[in-house]
Amino acid sequence: EAKKEIIKNAIRGIPDFPHKGILFWDVTTIMLNHQAFQYSIDLFAEQYKDKKIDVVAGFEARGLIFGAPLALALGVAFVPLRKPGKLPGDKISEEYKTEYSTDKIEMHVGAIQPGQRVVLVDDLIATGGTLAAGINLVKKAGGVVVEAACVIELPFLKGRDKIQGTDLFVLVEKE
Ligand code: IMP
Repeated sequence: EAKKEIIKNAIRGIPDFPHKGILFWDVTTIMLNHQAFQYSIDLFAEQYKDKKIDVVAGFEARGLIFGAPLALALGVAFVPLRKPGKLPGDKISEEYKTEYSTDKIEMHVGAIQPGQRVVLVDDLIATGGTLAAGINLVKKAGGVVVEAACVIELPFLKGRDKIQGTDLFVLVEKE
């Protein structure tokens, strides 16, 4: 709990970003504090060390920052889930609706083998749309979704409802 408090205190809220009326939770200030950053990876690694994870899949952009060190801590593969047009090889994709538009994430074919056990990582769950799309993508590849992990949850947006059937592990809740 002391570790979670240090992480929580390292997160900054920026009003009116990216739009007026939105309070944006900025995790770049976690990374400025190597202890807070280390604790976040430690807590994730503790949660997954005995869950027979094969792959950590991280969402562009901030899920890459937390996901890659977690994969190293667990000694498993890391797979980036990227925005359209970024991956050079053959890929599979999943579309999802956001507040204003339709978005898409992509993953390399063969990055996840059928039956591999996967944890998905992002910095923050809001409505859950991004995580739900990632879960579908992993399942399309034949992967087994063990759990999703985020640094921050905004419980009032009820993102958990959108990822029904997948457990969610979070370090910090914000209002
Ligand atoms: P959702 O799809 O509505 O759950 O939104 C989550 C996605 O939007 C994640 O990839 C987050 O990185 C990003 N996001 C939404 N709100 C914030 C915020 O306040 N801080 C950082 N990222 C956010």
